[in-house]
Parts: sequence; C-alpha cells; structure tokens
Amino acid sequence: MNAGTSLVKLIPLGVGHSSTTCFYYTNYLIIAGERRLYIDCPPYLLKMLRQHREALRDPDICVEKYSELILTHTHMDHCAGVEELGYMSIRGRPDKPKIYAPCGIHRSLWGESLVAGLRWRMEGERFVAKTYEDYFTPVYLDYEMPFDLGDGIKIEIRRVRHMPETFGLKLTFGSGISLGYSSDTGFMPELFTWWEDCSFIIHEVHFKPDIQWHTSLDELLSLPESVQKRIWLCHYTDDYMDYDTGYMRYLEQGAEYTLF
Ligand SMILES: [Zn+2]
Ligand SMILES: [Zn+2]
Repeated sequence: MNAGTSLVKLIPLGVGHSSTTCFYYTNYLIIAGERRLYIDCPPYLLKMLRQHREALRDPDICVEKYSELILTHTHMDHCAGVEELGYMSIRGRPDKPKIYAPCGIHRSLWGESLVAGLRWRMEGERFVAKTYEDYFTPVYLDYEMPFDLGDGIKIEIRRVRHMPETFGLKLTFGSGISLGYSSDTGFMPELFTWWEDCSFIIHEVHFKPDIQWHTSLDELLSLPESVQKRIWLCHYTDDYMDYDTGYMRYLEQGAEYTLF
C-alpha cells in the first residue's frame, strides 16, 4: 500500500528528558499504511511496548514487529533499547530489524556501545563472536541525499548541534506531506526554513537556557507565531506544567495524532 494514500498516525511512545521520572524517554511510532517506523529506541523497550500495546489495544505494538528503526544519535535515552531489540531479534526471528542512520552512527552504535553486550553469544559449549549484521540490517543514510524508504515515504536528514553525529529529519509521505523532527539539538533557526513545508514539527525543549546542546524555551518563543503553531514539544522535564509555551503544544505520551 502506498503510504501517501492512507492516514499517517504518530504515537509518542515517550516524551521525557533523560532526567525524567514520569515518562519514557522521547521516541515515536509512526504508522503509515502497512508501515511502522520507530524513531529512537530507549531502554525498558519491552515494558514500554507492552504498556502502549495494552492501552491502545494494538497487538502489533510488539518487539516481534519492531522492524524499522530510525536512530538519531547514540545517547542512552535514544538508543539503549537497541541492545534489548538485538537480544530479541537473534532468537529465531527470520528478519533482522532495519536500522536507518548515517555511517558514523552505525559505527559508534556497534563499536562503542552494543559490542560490549552483544558480541559474545554462547552456542553449545562455545562462545561465538557475533557481528552487528547478525542482529540488525543496517541501512545507510546520507546527509547530502534524500533516501527513499519505499511506499511513497522519503527521509531527509541534517546534522544538528548535539553529539558530533546527531541528525534532525524530515519525513515526506506521498505527494509532499511532511513531518519535521529536531532530535536533540541546540537552537538552529535554519531548521525552520527547511521545515517550511512541514505542517507538524516535533521539537525538543529545554527549560533553562544554560547549555548549548539543547534548545531553550526562550529560543523557541522567539519564533514567529505561524511557526510556533506548527510545533509540538517533546523531551521535557517533569516540571513542564510550570512553563508558558506560547502557541506551542506539548506532545502527550501514548496519545494518537493523525497527521494527514
Ligand atoms: Zn541526546
Ligand atoms: Zn535525549
């Protein structure tokens, strides 16, 4: 089915900052026709999927059908669930989940993170060395070129100001209907020009203007009203209700948003 001809749904599976004690860490499920794309993969993956599966009465929100992951960077709150996904995927599963990311993120994910837990696996009496490809199907994104995900879905990525390799993205469904997502980043006004055609922009927010690698609420409030009205905030701390966010709205964990 071409995703451009059907509704596109967004479910924030988590909306929290890495210090949250109320939410799961920020990550998403996008349902477009037959396709289910996950964006970022936090720890307690199985518990989180179960909670949403039961609340939304959707049996397909499960690790067995977790087949496509867009991974924006390798901070714990965005990637620690990939190890859990790996453990589940190697147990008799015919397909290996696809991970979409640029080369540097794949290299760092396996070589600096997953290798410690996933490299050695006991088979009979022996330890056998496993590779990234034994667990996953890496798909390489390019900062310079849009990537065709199939079914009328296209992804473009841009390097943002966070870790040395972190990307923001634009997903386009069918004939030009688009969603923007900042991932974690310092304020980059140029992103909003890139997202001019996006009716739905998901942006992180940091309430105190004390660091350069996240975007402060004050910086977002400096954007024109017409842009703020398209922004939905994520990656927030537990005190989020204390702040006036202008025309911008908070994404709600576990809610279903029909994008188009
Ligand atoms: Zn981060
Ligand atoms: Zn984060």
